[in-house]
Amino acid sequence: MTLPILPHFAPAYALHDTAADPIETPHPALIRNKRGVADPDKTWPQHSVLNISLLNMTQEQKKWVKHNINQWAPHTNLYFKFVDTPNGDIRIIANNDTSNAWSKIGTDAKKVAQPTPTMSIGFKGAPANIAARVQHEFGHALGLKHEHQHPDQPLEFNNQTIYDDYESWGKFQWQADHNIIQKLPHDKVKVSPYDKTSIMHYGFPASWLSNGNPIPSSTHLSEGDKRFIQSLYPTDNSFFGKLLNTSIRAMINA
Ligand SMILES: [Zn+2]
Repeated sequence: MTLPILPHFAPAYALHDTAADPIETPHPALIRNKRGVADPDKTWPQHSVLNISLLNMTQEQKKWVKHNINQWAPHTNLYFKFVDTPNGDIRIIANNDTSNAWSKIGTDAKKVAQPTPTMSIGFKGAPANIAARVQHEFGHALGLKHEHQHPDQPLEFNNQTIYDDYESWGKFQWQADHNIIQKLPHDKVKVSPYDKTSIMHYGFPASWLSNGNPIPSSTHLSEGDKRFIQSLYPTDNSFFGKLLNTSIRAMINA
């Protein structure tokens, strides 16, 4: 499905957060990869079947969420199995009253007791924005972190303007620091060159950046996103690898 590219800035994007996720967890390895930012300790085991519970959703919303999550599928060796029961590995709840969204990072979802959700998707807003929101949050569920918090990101934020805007939305300074301003330390994430077009990058209004150049929100996975997730979950492209892959997918979708 082709979605229109709509420049869209805060507050909708600024309000979609990662669930308060400590960034001080120790990570031993610094491994350079193709593009993006990931938490190497929170990726799922290779070739996992992830059961994904779709909760509190209409049939139309389920279809929409599946379609957007499946944008990631061909670029990984993981299998996504959608279920209606609340015992999935990833449990996504719809919230029709908000444009906010949040997700646990990768395998942090396992620390959440069932049936508590591990991701929430607000369904308020334009369809293109909701689509981008689902893709972004599912990037978190696969272990990705914010691209605009890349250790090498060159952005210079107007911190006070961001804090003031957050305050006007009833949010806190620490949330702006946690989700936007703080760069992730090099020794705690797996990275590749900074990618402004990543789905994991927020859009920013001109007033938030010292150079006054706004950054439009991404509406779909960038080529860099596809390469980076592939580097984290590499597919087996041999004949037998592809055959096995097709068989497992057929079994899951049966
Ligand atoms: Zn996010």
